[in-house]
This record gives sequence, structure tokens and C-alpha cells, in this order.
Amino acid sequence: MSDSCQRILQNALSDEPLSKTDALGVLSSDGVDLLILVAAAYQIRHKYFSKEVTVHILNNVQNGLCSEDCQYCAQSTSSSARIEQYPMKSDAEIMAEAKAAWEQGAHRYCMVFSGAGPSDERIDHLSQIIREIKKNWPLEVCVSPGVITSDQAKKLKAAGLDRLNHNLNTSERHYKKICTTHSYSDRLATLRAAKSNDLAICSGVIIGMGETADDVFQMALIHRDIQTDSIPVNFLIPIPGIALKTLNGLTPEYCLRVLCLFRLMNPRAEIRMAAGREIHLRALEPLGLYVANSLFLQGYLNARGSSNHHTLQMIKDLGFSIKSDVKIDEILLRSDTHEEADGLKSRDELRPFLKET
Ligand code: SF4
Repeated sequence: MSDSCQRILQNALSDEPLSKTDALGVLSSDGVDLLILVAAAYQIRHKYFSKEVTVHILNNVQNGLCSEDCQYCAQSTSSSARIEQYPMKSDAEIMAEAKAAWEQGAHRYCMVFSGAGPSDERIDHLSQIIREIKKNWPLEVCVSPGVITSDQAKKLKAAGLDRLNHNLNTSERHYKKICTTHSYSDRLATLRAAKSNDLAICSGVIIGMGETADDVFQMALIHRDIQTDSIPVNFLIPIPGIALKTLNGLTPEYCLRVLCLFRLMNPRAEIRMAAGREIHLRALEPLGLYVANSLFLQGYLNARGSSNHHTLQMIKDLGFSIKSDVKIDEILLRSDTHEEADGLKSRDELRPFLKET
């Protein structure tokens, strides 16, 4: 192992931040050799998470109809993507999907809302739903409600919410280029409100939006500073119709290096290889699990991903286990083996229990 890789590994093992020079070396193909880097990141992953994978299933509780102009988002006012739009699902639909998520091995059930932020009435309604889910299944519950206040965070915590998601998405410097209707500091304030009310926080980034390597370093650094518990590392999915066109020259190697940087800079955080893992990591996707300890099953908010069977088989083939009371072999036996499709999710995929409820 080279001196620089040895230094990077020692820093991460002792939970010290990487210098900017070392961080940029991690991101560069002229820097640390890729497999040596992955092996170093794996030591950190193994130290804190052993060979366990946390599986997340998203519920797109309210889709589209958003007044914000986030350039990467298919639900944005700036998007002409042909997504299925609907207001908040019924309580019965949300509960049926929570039950299904539990049966499919999900450790955490994430309810995601479009929009800038919730009213107090919406927070009260959401609190009831959280109580009901927690009463019925041993699922951890995460909510992505948009910008919230400290009082709203307090109510959600009292209802039993485990974790609040609010993505910072990119660096403070780059933020104005991807959204003008709300600011980076609005987003940061929401995360601080959640933290100060004892909620674990999940906050993701999106790679491929025209940011520089220095921006990526700044993203890893801010999450270290605010002690983000869970960091979904997304790679831009170029859904036709979204305003943003850049992919910033993403290659599988670069995407894997980005995962390594987040792991090395945030050793104790749950690092998720999140949206776009299939199309951007491609043949390197299995190596991503030696670095990240978490992933989404069943695709993303509007975009399809690998089939459940494919993803779970990958986890099993690598010798990893899932963090669930349900055994991976049981889920594999009853999961559909059909190959995944790409493109946008249909109404039936987004609302599987609509007819029954
Ligand atoms: S990311 Fe959220 S706030 Fe931004 S456009 Fe999409 S749904 Fe609206």
C-alpha cells in the first residue's frame, strides 16, 4: 500500500478527516489505485458495519405537483418528465405498503413527500401514521417531508419517528445552480432542527450535476461536520424532461471513488449506494457494497431500478447479510426473478395497493 493510501486509511480508522489533497487523490484515477482504495474503505466499513447491508424501500407518498424548481427532480416545476402525479396517498395505502416493505426485508420504511415543506396539519396527520406503523411492525421509520421547523421536528420525534431525511444534494457553492426557490441554508436549518430534537438525520448528495471534485469534498466535509447519520450517495438519473442535462463525465470508476471518499470521510455513517447505482456503477456495482453498507430496493422515487431478486442475489453472492428478521433466502424464494426494466415507474408500481384500499 502506498504512503498516501496508508495515511488515508489511518486517518479514517482514527476518525480524522482527510486533507483536501488526500481527498482529491481519492477521487482521481491518477491517485490511489482503485482496488487498494476499495480495500481500505472496506476495512472501515467492516469495522463499523461488518458484512451487513441495510435495505431501504421508498414509498413515494405524494408525487409531483411541486412548486420548487430543483433542476434534477422529475417532480419539479422546471420538469416536463411524464411522471404519474398524485396528492398524498390514503392512510390505508401507506399502511399496506409498510406491511409489504417489512415482508420484503426492509429494515427502514421511508415515506417521501414532494413539495417545499409540510403544514402543521400535515405534520399531525403524519404523526398518526408513524404511530400506527410503529404499533404494527418493528420497522424503523424515516420521513422526507421537505423543509420543517424545530417544533414540527419535535412532534415527529414524539410520534416515534426514527429518522428524518432532507438532502443537501450538492455543495453550498454549487447549490444556486441547481435550485433557486429555496436555499442551501434552508436545507441545512432543517437538518439542524431535526438533530436538535434527537432525530437521526439522513441527507443525501447527487453526483453528476456539474459539480467539481472540490464540491464533492465539501459535501463529504459538511456531512462530517453535522454528523449526518445516513448519507445516500445518488448518481444523477437523466430522466427525460428534467431541466438538468449534465452528468459531469461520470464513469463507474469515478462513482466508486466517490463512495470511497464518503466512507473514508464519514467512517461511522450509513453510506448508501443510492439512486443511479445500476446505470452509473454498472459492472463495478458489487464492489460498491464493500464500501457502502446500504441500498434501496425496488428502485427510486420515479425511476425503476434492479429487480428485488437481482439486488438480493447480489448481496447473497457477495457473502453479505441483510439487517432484517426476515431471511434473505426466504425473500429470494418468493421474489420475482424477471429482469428489471428501466424507465419510469407506472401507476401500478407506484401505488400497488390503490385498488384494494
Ligand atoms: S426535490 Fe423536493 S422540493 Fe425539489 S422539486 Fe423535487 S419534490 Fe420539489
